[in-house]
Amino acid sequence: MIESPAVSSVANAPQRDSAYQTALTQFDRAAQILNLETGLYEILRAPRRELIVNFPVKMDNGEVRRFTGYRVHHNTARGPTKGGIRYAPHVDLDEVRALAMWMTWKCAIVNIPYGGAKGGVVVDPKQLSLCELERLTRRYTTEITPFISPEGDIPAPDMGTNPQVMAWIMDTYSMHRGYSVPAVVTGKPVNIGGSAGRFEATGRGIMFTVREAYRTFSWRFENIALAVQGFGNVGSITAQTAYEMGCRVIAVSDVSGGVYNPRGLDIPRLRRFVKEHGSVSSFPDGDRITNQELLALQCDVLVPAAMENQITAANAAQVRARVVAEGANGPTTPAADEILLEHNVLVIPDILCNAGGVVVSYFEWVQSLQQLFWEEEDVTHRLERIMVRSFHDVYELALRMDLDLRTAALVLGVGRVAEATRTRGLYP
Ligand code: GLU
Repeated sequence: MIESPAVSSVANAPQRDSAYQTALTQFDRAAQILNLETGLYEILRAPRRELIVNFPVKMDNGEVRRFTGYRVHHNTARGPTKGGIRYAPHVDLDEVRALAMWMTWKCAIVNIPYGGAKGGVVVDPKQLSLCELERLTRRYTTEITPFISPEGDIPAPDMGTNPQVMAWIMDTYSMHRGYSVPAVVTGKPVNIGGSAGRFEATGRGIMFTVREAYRTFSWRFENIALAVQGFGNVGSITAQTAYEMGCRVIAVSDVSGGVYNPRGLDIPRLRRFVKEHGSVSSFPDGDRITNQELLALQCDVLVPAAMENQITAANAAQVRARVVAEGANGPTTPAADEILLEHNVLVIPDILCNAGGVVVSYFEWVQSLQQLFWEEEDVTHRLERIMVRSFHDVYELALRMDLDLRTAALVLGVGRVAEATRTRGLYP
């Protein structure tokens, strides 16, 4: 299944290009707190390299169509760049820049040896046949080949892409080399060198972080009520993990709308239903709600796991959750952040909360380089340790400097990248 941009509220979402504005605003705040020297500020604020590719794909009806794709490397101070590739009709260079910058801070916060990158192709993957999707992927891979490598930049799945797409990327890159290069991409299917537990990593990581937050504040965790916006890879695995941890998932949604049941949804049954029917909204065991209604539900934890700019100045005051655990990248605008803070809603920021995906991508890369594979139990155990440690790194910084968690996470991430840059020194 292709991960879907899982909201119906796109029509009334604010300006699409604001993700980069959000990323820059967040960076400026962290830079100011860190008192970054001007040169370093200028460097970290801009992407290191940007590639735009326009390329042809032959469609099934024989027609040739031109597609546009991107790959942006934001920063390489701490290691090779890492980040997903998204296929979505609204992707543009600014969105990819924002996502690449967030990857840099995210990798630094969880302390894995990567810089940040992101890629994207302007396409609605649901409008393509499987063969068209494969040809598009192989040609895009070829076009960005100068930018990717196991040592330099390692792509992974994101919105609209999945393990099959990663397999085509790996195969195309390998064909050009003349031998298999599994470490060029992560999020691959397990049968060609992917990691056990990678598919589940982001959702599991989110719930490990939420549980640790509850533990830290001595809040009762059992039977808490969650509402999850988005039922792609991130949303569905978050819901599944919450269900397995004994929480009540009272609402979920996707592009078609949502379903609400205050007693808690049977998530395994709902996932089977979605496999068969393609969406959550007609699930019989609950009431239909809209995406906007879901965001305003009375619940303990709200998980926006769909896309950017969902919680905005227009609806933040309606959020009635105690915790917002950001599964998506950039779901909350800076103006909404302020409102949530005023309303005492604890926001666990994306660059901490959803970092489980890239953490297990790191494990997959290590396994691919070594050709030595780990049990799923080990993967998930190590993932939990990193998420718990990272939560405390951020939380303790927040306490010490009297910051909200997002600002603390940014200060931690930007600070680590700044330090690495200083240590490496300036070439030439
Ligand atoms: N696309 C995911 C993210 O936004 C994962 C990136 C990766 O595994 O490299 O964090």
